[in-house]
Amino acid sequence: MENKKEMRTWLDALNLDHPLVVAGPCSAETEEQVLRIAHELKDTDVNYFRAGIWKPRTRPGNFEGVGALGLKWLQKVKAETGMKTATEVANAAHVKLALEHDIDLLWIGARSTVSPFIVQEIADALEGTDKVVLVKNPVNPDLALWLGGIERLYTANIKNLGVIHRGFSTYEKSKYRNIPEWQLAIELQNKFPDLPLICDPSHITGKRDMILDVSQTALDLNFDGLMIETHFDPDNAWSDAAQQVTPESLVQIMKDLRIRKEDSSEVGYNSELTNLRAQIDVIDNGLIETLGKRMKISDQIGALKKTGNVSVLQTSRWNEILGKMILEGESKGLSEEFVLRMFKAIHQESINHQEKILKS
Ligand code: PEP
Ligand code: MN
Repeated sequence: MENKKEMRTWLDALNLDHPLVVAGPCSAETEEQVLRIAHELKDTDVNYFRAGIWKPRTRPGNFEGVGALGLKWLQKVKAETGMKTATEVANAAHVKLALEHDIDLLWIGARSTVSPFIVQEIADALEGTDKVVLVKNPVNPDLALWLGGIERLYTANIKNLGVIHRGFSTYEKSKYRNIPEWQLAIELQNKFPDLPLICDPSHITGKRDMILDVSQTALDLNFDGLMIETHFDPDNAWSDAAQQVTPESLVQIMKDLRIRKEDSSEVGYNSELTNLRAQIDVIDNGLIETLGKRMKISDQIGALKKTGNVSVLQTSRWNEILGKMILEGESKGLSEEFVLRMFKAIHQESINHQEKILKS
């Protein structure tokens, strides 16, 4: 599939002077809860009011959503506040009900995007719709699967499209609930510059105090909008309590964000620079992360050498690594001098780590 300008017509038509904002509770809980949050969000930057009606839970036994009844509450939201409405659909029956209740934006959740059968079922049920349909990234970092979702929808003649980046689950411990792996979103954006790209900092962070920071990174990386879970009493929300913010905090977050406007050539230059710098920051963080992992393995080797009573420095192994890396570096446009200097520094740090272990 190629980049298609028509995919963003719905977004351009909104003519926004700020990023698109989708906000509202993780789950619709009661009619009062939904309407109260909606009214508190009414005269803010929020464009679409979200609420989960059917909740995909990783483990059974948690709140699984109020079901079709909640769609009536979303209709009331639209009638009383004028905000457009948004919810997650996970099968053909959900689609039918959502369309009957005139939901304006439907998204496919991360647990559904992983299944081509489910995505196809949803695409068939939505065929030809002029509603906006967004695809969340699959729970695993697989760009092809994510794009496959968009392709299935586009082929079903659905043209108002977009993607939501909500991070990826990982086995490793991390400060995030779902690690962002920004490079994947950047790659997607390079391939499909006109496909609206929305960040969901709520599910990436899992913690409300990290939402501003992740939102800022997203905007610096040229994301088109944000989806932020919002509740008047976050701590007592029936799902995702730790990550929801109050409507008041949402307004504050929108105020605190540095939003780039691309209307003069100087501003255009600055925003391009900010974007490239944000990409560099992502890569630098990855470098430190990778080096940290490398040193952990060095520590394990140190422990092994200690048991085997072997010396730290093994010259033949080191020369072998260097030779390979110089060739590899050349193929990526890195000078031999640079690769040598960098690997000497890495090697020295590695020796220091191992010596510390041998002496312990
Ligand atoms: C949600 O948006 O509430 C949700 C369940 O998200 P995800 O599919 O990203 O886990
Ligand atoms: Mn949620």
